[in-house]
Amino acid sequence: MRIARFSIDGNVAFGAVEGSSPDELVLDIIKGIPFADFELSGTKVPLSKVRLLPPVLPNKVVAIGRNYAEHAAELGHEVPESTDAPITFFKPSTSVIGSGDAIAYPSFSDELHHEAELAVVIGRMCREVPRERVKDVILGYTCANDVTARDVQRREKQWARAKGFDTSCPLGPWVETDLDPSDLTIQCTVNGEQRQLGRTTDMIRSIEDLVVHITEAMTLLPGDVILTGTPAGVGPLTVGDEVAVTIEGIGTLTNKVIKRG
Ligand code: MG
Repeated sequence: MRIARFSIDGNVAFGAVEGSSPDELVLDIIKGIPFADFELSGTKVPLSKVRLLPPVLPNKVVAIGRNYAEHAAELGHEVPESTDAPITFFKPSTSVIGSGDAIAYPSFSDELHHEAELAVVIGRMCREVPRERVKDVILGYTCANDVTARDVQRREKQWARAKGFDTSCPLGPWVETDLDPSDLTIQCTVNGEQRQLGRTTDMIRSIEDLVVHITEAMTLLPGDVILTGTPAGVGPLTVGDEVAVTIEGIGTLTNKVIKRG
């Protein structure tokens, strides 16, 4: 099931996305929230009539750095071993935007980069999750863009500003709950031109590894998100660009870059 969060006439709701033709998608409004047992109301609205919101409002986004060998190498870093502890960092809840929202180019950077990533959406409160229970705590998957001020990332020891500024975490367009994430294409285009193309099979650390590692340290809450790292091909964004992240089996997350007002 594809679960979207949206607003219509000032009301916010979740809906199940139905249909296959992009122009004819409809939302069957969900009674309740997708983190508990829920029912579909049968009340349907065309997707074209609503504003898509970020599919979840995470308490935290835990992100993983350098989880694809070719990407680590392209930035001139040593490629991590699968036995190395993954690099983890946070993107704040205030960085999250939905598909169709604008990425606001921050004033303190001259080098904004796109990073297309598979995002894991957590479905239930969990900590110290054993490997064999990981699938039970995952609601589904969505597309993410770990937008990064690369110059600031180089300049400052911690990545909080470089990767945590407002609008730096586009998520969407919806959460796909029925998906095997182990071998999916991840693509990023800018103004229709392909920049990144990778496969989730090339992750250094698996989703199971990441959930075990993160929840060893902290409780994850329903709606929390894990960004699993980006494949090679990261590159610059400029004001006016339209950046799109497409993941096989999920859909396309599209955002325009504007000057921060
Ligand atoms: Mg990243």
